Amino acid sequence: MASLSKQKIHDAGKRDPLVTRTISYKGKRAQEKWPSGYTESYVDPSGNVMNNLQLVPPSVPATRDAVTRAKAQKLHDGFVPHAQCPMRNGIRFDDKFRDEFADMPVELEAKKCESDPTTRTRGARGVIECHDACPHVEWLIAYRKNKAAEARLAKRSEPTNLNEQTIAAQQAALEEQKVTNARLLEIVSSLTNPKAAKKTQE
Ligand SMILES: [Zn+2]
Repeated sequence: MASLSKQKIHDAGKRDPLVTRTISYKGKRAQEKWPSGYTESYVDPSGNVMNNLQLVPPSVPATRDAVTRAKAQKLHDGFVPHAQCPMRNGIRFDDKFRDEFADMPVELEAKKCESDPTTRTRGARGVIECHDACPHVEWLIAYRKNKAAEARLAKRSEPTNLNEQTIAAQQAALEEQKVTNARLLEIVSSLTNPKAAKKTQE
């Protein structure tokens, strides 16, 4: 009988999470690590495509309930599914995203996606080919990136005001120092030359 203590115990996630796989996007190749468990790709609030976000860890059975709850949480955090058309599944009407999708050009809104986009396919030698999402998601990515860049620019203009404030404060301190120096000089000269000081006092 086999000794139980020597048997390898496997977690539900059978794959070594440190092993990478090759992905390819528009001819460019990269190595990718991806978490175990149930994963899906999302567009984050700044317009970055986050590949393979872990929705359910490998130690938890990816039941329908667990997946639904994880997906709802992602939507709540402002993440939009990358491989789903937001015009087909009603995500555009979600309170969280309604304002963003209201800015979509009418021509693009009129375009209908027949199916959800295929964003990943398995190519030769196991290389994962990454593809762009549907035009509606691609529009959202550009829109969010623009917004994030605008926010960054607005933030960058703040420190210049701060710099002006520090320069003004430094100048005020300098003026104060000048006045103090003049007073000290007066005191020193009166000490070294008491007669002259007396004369000026008289
Ligand atoms: Zn679409």
